Amino acid sequence: MRLSRFHLRTEKETPAEAEIISHKLMLKSGMIRKLAAGLYTWSPLGLRVLRKVERVVREEMNRAGAIEILMPTIQPQELWQETGRWEKFGGQLLKIRDRKEAGYCYAPTAEEVVTDFARNELASYKQLPVNFYQIQTKFRDEIRPRFGVMRAREFLMKDAYSFHLDETSLQTEYRNMYDTYSRIFTRLGLKFRAVFADTGAIGGSASHEFHVLADSGEDAIAFSDASDYAANVELAEALAPGTRPAASQALRDIATPTQKTCEEVAALLQIPLSHTVKSIALMGEDNEGAPQFVLALVRGDHSANEIKLAKLPGLGDYRLASEEEIRTHLGASPGFLGPLNSAQPIRVIADRAVAAMADFVVGANRDGFHIAGVNWGRDLPEPEVADIRNVVAGDPSPDGQGILGIARGIEVGHVFALGNKYSEAMNCTVLDAQGKPVNPLMGCYGIGVSRIVAAAIEQNHDETGICWPEAMAPWQVAVCLINPKNNPDVLAAAEELCEALNKAGIDSVLDDRGLRPGAMFADMELIGIPHRVVVSERGLAAGSFEYRHRSAAEAENLDHASLLARLTVSPP
Ligand code: ATP
Ligand code: MG
Repeated sequence: MRLSRFHLRTEKETPAEAEIISHKLMLKSGMIRKLAAGLYTWSPLGLRVLRKVERVVREEMNRAGAIEILMPTIQPQELWQETGRWEKFGGQLLKIRDRKEAGYCYAPTAEEVVTDFARNELASYKQLPVNFYQIQTKFRDEIRPRFGVMRAREFLMKDAYSFHLDETSLQTEYRNMYDTYSRIFTRLGLKFRAVFADTGAIGGSASHEFHVLADSGEDAIAFSDASDYAANVELAEALAPGTRPAASQALRDIATPTQKTCEEVAALLQIPLSHTVKSIALMGEDNEGAPQFVLALVRGDHSANEIKLAKLPGLGDYRLASEEEIRTHLGASPGFLGPLNSAQPIRVIADRAVAAMADFVVGANRDGFHIAGVNWGRDLPEPEVADIRNVVAGDPSPDGQGILGIARGIEVGHVFALGNKYSEAMNCTVLDAQGKPVNPLMGCYGIGVSRIVAAAIEQNHDETGICWPEAMAPWQVAVCLINPKNNPDVLAAAEELCEALNKAGIDSVLDDRGLRPGAMFADMELIGIPHRVVVSERGLAAGSFEYRHRSAAEAENLDHASLLARLTVSPP
């Protein structure tokens, strides 16, 4: 491939509309061009990268035994009505009408369509298990399309759907897909984590999200430094700390006329924030369904977790208490609240960490005062104890192995054991060994093919541009030609080298655009080519090529044989 005959159009200025680095670099390198909100054209350069990702995904899905199909992007309304999702899917569903006024939607996913395919194609348990996949365009009318192709409205997804006679078979395929995803992201050269996900409202028996780790990620992930445990921060369990120390201080009032937050009180008393307790006033329901005032306690340096709170009895639909409710039950204003001396008896829920504290500081339920030296059992009855906080870095891993770190992640894949939700709703049956019709169990498995491109850049860039992992680079090697017009031998040598590399299976491009070396090198760095070889008159006279890896500080001079040896060894 010659760059002079390729359409490469990089930009000098960093586009102002882009917030995150991948979006900036994709625009600057000319990989994508915006058509409208959340809609992008992939340029020849961008498409090369997208296709490389697609190829790895396809190869690994095929290797795993999944079978490729291609379903339409336009889906009839009736199918979505069978599962009740025509209404339930919400605003993300782009609904359209044809000339006969029949309702359709643009595919945001394909459970309905594939289940319809399956109910027509599958008749017997002998055809199971089977896993159909496609790599196809999806459309979701995202409320806030942003970050370029990271959260687009139209994007490329690999979606797979498996069908099984029993749970064991579903679990086997789930594991197979989990392992396949791990292989895909490893081959693509990405740092990733499989994150345990909450199957929650959707139902289903198991779910994992695959996240590429990057600071700009939308999700916070807690992961162990010693095992493969990883979970969304909101879902990770905070283990109970060790045993509570013995009480050593007497109870005492502290005047805190202006100190309302734990930070302010800790600063006044010159104690660590972890010796203070935050009181959060909530309204839930008691056993009879009557409104109940609840005081939730977390350590001053911790934060309460709304999802965990809502899982506790009586707090399913909790809300924060109003100032008036607080005054009625506690007799004080926010900023001075605590579990001691409340105006009325209250339900107190202590986080596990709070239950293990001694000699702590809480609000006094008297404006302008806190109380120090508070101890469970002595000054207060033993509380109701629950895990109600977010884990923090340094907490022990819930699987008992290692310490948790917190990282940000970008969801690039999702595996989900669906059960018979769709097969039942859509009356998809196969005959089992006894000749009885049964609804097959299903799994679904998605990968955001186009999002991977952006996520990879978030993880692999420097101040001069993208640093592609080998498997995703538009080309692995750029053969840069200095002054191509001056000396036909130099051009011939560069062409010969490029051809030899491509023959050896190393995807190489010849930069014969005749740019000044500075501008040419800047372009190759911006578009992230992992290996650069410079062919010049001077080098040729000395029998050498100047080689530099994208991440190396210095270039080195290599003869033809050493160069080929070097480049054939390093790529995967
Ligand atoms: P998110 O929480 O990021 O919206 P999702 O849970 O809606 O993702 P799935 O329905 O599991 O996503 O879709 C499978 C994959 O498709 C996701 O893991 C993600 O990589 C990709 N994807 C989803 N929405 C978008 C989008 N708007 N733009 C690009 N890729 C997307
Ligand atoms: Mg979504």
